[in-house]
Order: sequence, then structure tokens, then C-alpha cells
Amino acid sequence: MEKQVIIVGGGLAGLTTANHLARAGIKCHLFEKRTYPFHRVCGEYISNEVVPYLRSLDLFPEKLGPSNIKWFQLTSVNGRAAQMPLDLGGFGISRYRLDEFLYQRGLENGVEFHLDQEVTSIAFNGDRFEVHADTVYTADVVIGSFGKRSKLDVQLGRSFIQKRSPYVGVKYHIRYDSHPPDLISLHNFKDGYCGISHVENNIVNLCYLTHRENVKAHKNIRAMEEAVLFQNPFLKKIFENAQFLFEKPETINEISFETKAPVEQHILMLGDAARMITPLCGNGMAMAIHSAKILSEHVIRFCQDKNYSRLQLEQDYAKAWRSLFASRLWAGRQIQRLFGDVWTSNLAVNLARHVRPVADFLMRKTHGTPF
Ligand SMILES: Cc1cc2nc3c(=O)[nH]c(=O)nc-3n(C[C@H](O)[C@H](O)[C@H](O)COP(=O)(O)OP(=O)(O)OC[C@H]3O[C@@H](n4cnc5c(N)ncnc54)[C@H](O)[C@@H]3O)c2cc1C
Repeated sequence: MEKQVIIVGGGLAGLTTANHLARAGIKCHLFEKRTYPFHRVCGEYISNEVVPYLRSLDLFPEKLGPSNIKWFQLTSVNGRAAQMPLDLGGFGISRYRLDEFLYQRGLENGVEFHLDQEVTSIAFNGDRFEVHADTVYTADVVIGSFGKRSKLDVQLGRSFIQKRSPYVGVKYHIRYDSHPPDLISLHNFKDGYCGISHVENNIVNLCYLTHRENVKAHKNIRAMEEAVLFQNPFLKKIFENAQFLFEKPETINEISFETKAPVEQHILMLGDAARMITPLCGNGMAMAIHSAKILSEHVIRFCQDKNYSRLQLEQDYAKAWRSLFASRLWAGRQIQRLFGDVWTSNLAVNLARHVRPVADFLMRKTHGTPF
């Protein structure tokens, strides 16, 4: 009997997996609660480590005109700056365009999409899964790619969801000709940091992470930006001179970096659903795509080899996931401690300026190699 695969969540992790599996001849259904295209809170800088894999699946979005990013600038809360070349570099592309592109590729590859359909519960009965959306679906394999936080985490009783998280994310698209197209900047401000880099069509992404308390202490987001972000002269200049393209920013809250597990209740977790890396590393999307690759390879084996058991699939995937990502996630959390404070952000800038081998080492610790 042909095995049935259900993917829950159509972000980068889910869409990449769906394309990979469909190209290998595996029938898969992808459920996404929204409809494409839509904006997401994301810095939209993708490490070049993903390029060989995306090209191998014909998923590299060349025709969308991504920016090519080779330089990194770091500024401290009070505006000290350092600039260095990026080891591997990356490209910039909006999630609005990229996710839509991967969705279209999925349609061409034969993925069965269920859009505007929220999955409300998943249960494993010892042999197969029941997945509840508009109706009840059954499957041999369920892949959880439902992102950093979903109602499903509550239904599944995942432990991280019990803890509140103070982090808030805000994103704009702007036009700002003074920002070089090949540069990604990371500007610190009190209790937060803001990334700026080009995506397609001369649009610049401005996205920052801060604490809920920072927003609460001011009337609204704009008031906080003026009172807090403007303390960094680089940010003040950008906010005062850029043309803002959204009527209001995209925002999300409760961004959690707590430990999760790559397999829970037999569901194979991917991307942020398996665990989220701190955004300053600019590596969450590469990890989502890389986890899609390793999981797809294991699922293809499970679907094609009668002797490859569910237990082996789960153990092998969890082991591969940990060996690829565990140390990167840990390093990201440690480095985030250097951000959002005058003293430590100046220390980070001084490291980048004067002790380049240490800065290069830290950057390598949070990134992978091309796959
Ligand atoms: C402020 C900020 C800046 C960032 N900047 C960068 C960056 O510059 N570079 C980088 O590489 N990474 C960055 N990241 C991280 C990156 O955005 C994520 O790691 C990446 O999007 C993870 O992809 P994903 O597919 O796992 O999840 P997502 O892209 O979040 O997709 C999850 C999908 O699941 C759907 N879903 C959820 N629940 C259900 C349900 N019950 N039923 C159906 N569908 C459901 C959602 O609608 C969503 O479409 C940033 C993150 C933040 C917060």
C-alpha cells in the first residue's frame, strides 16, 4: 500500500519538504491555515548554504531577482560600528514572494494543497494518524512544520508552550537608497536588535526583535521606536529618511527559543516547530530548509523500504537533527546575550573590529556549510 504523508504548515520547512517528497513520487498533502501570498515577520536574509540543495530541486528563486549579500555591519546601542565580509554570504528575498514561488512549484510537482485550513488536532493510534481539519484525514506519516508557535502545540501539550516568552518581532518593507544592496546590518538598541538588508526589487527589509516590556513602556510601537531605537544614530537616520511601504508593521509576539524535540508523539517536527534559533544568526530559514532535506530523505526511505520501521525512522531523524543543529542553537542563545545592552554591544563591536578570528569563529558556530 502506498504510504500517505500529511504536512502541517506551509512555511519554508513544509513547502520545501512537500516539493522534495513529491519529486520523489510520494503523494503528500500540505495543510496551511492561510493562503499565499502573505507577509511574515522575518529578516528575509537566507544563508547561501542552502543554494546547492534548492538548485538540485529546481527551487532556487533566481527569477525573482534576490539580492546578493556579502558584507556584514554591526553597530552598538550608542552607534559604534564594525564591518566585515561574510564568510559564505547569503541572498535576500521576501517571504511574500518566496513562499508563493515554492507553493507554485509544489502545484507543478503534484503536491495536494489544503489552503485556508487550520489543523486543529493530530492523534496517533499506534499505527496511523488522525488529522482533524475541515474533516478527518488519515496518514502514515505526519510532518509538523507549523512554525514557532501554533494552537497545535497546546493540543499536543508540548512543554515549551507553558512558559510565556517576552520576545516581540516587528517587520517593515522600506525604500532606502542609502543602504548598499550587498550589505546586511545588525543595529543594536536597548533590549533589542534590528536587521536591515535588501530583498528583491530594490526593497529593503527592516526587522527587529525586542522585549514586550520595551513596547509596554511606551504608548505604541512608533513611540517606542522614537524613544528607544532612535538612540542608535544609524537607526534614527534610517527611520527618518526611509519611505515605509506598509501601512502598519507586521508584528508577532511570544517568540520562544525554548528547547523542543524533533520528534513528539510520533510527529516528525521541522524548522521552528523542532526549535527556533535566535534571529540575530540569520540562519532560521537555512535550518528550516536543511531539516526539510534530512527529513525528506528519511521519509522517502520509510515509504519505499518495508524493512525500515517507524522506530528506526524516528531515531535516525532525531539523531541527524541533533548532530546538525544542537550546537548551532546553543551558540545562538549565547551570542544573543551580547546584544541589546550598551556595554555588551560595544564589546561585540570591538570584537568584530579588533579580534576578527573570534568574530569569524562565532559566525561559523551559528552557520552550517553548503549542503
Ligand atoms: C524577528 C525575526 C527575524 C528573523 N529573521 C530571519 C532572517 O533574516 N534569516 C533567517 O534565516 N531566519 C530568520 N528568522 C527565522 C525564520 O523566519 C524562521 O526560522 C523560519 O520562517 C522557519 O520556517 P518554518 O517553515 O519552520 O515556519 P514558518 O515559516 O513560521 O511557517 C509555519 C506555517 O505553519 C502554519 N500553521 C501554523 N499552525 C497551523 C495549523 N494548525 N494548521 C495549518 N497551518 C498552520 C503557519 O500559518 C505558517 O505558514 C527570523 C525570525 C524572527 C522572529
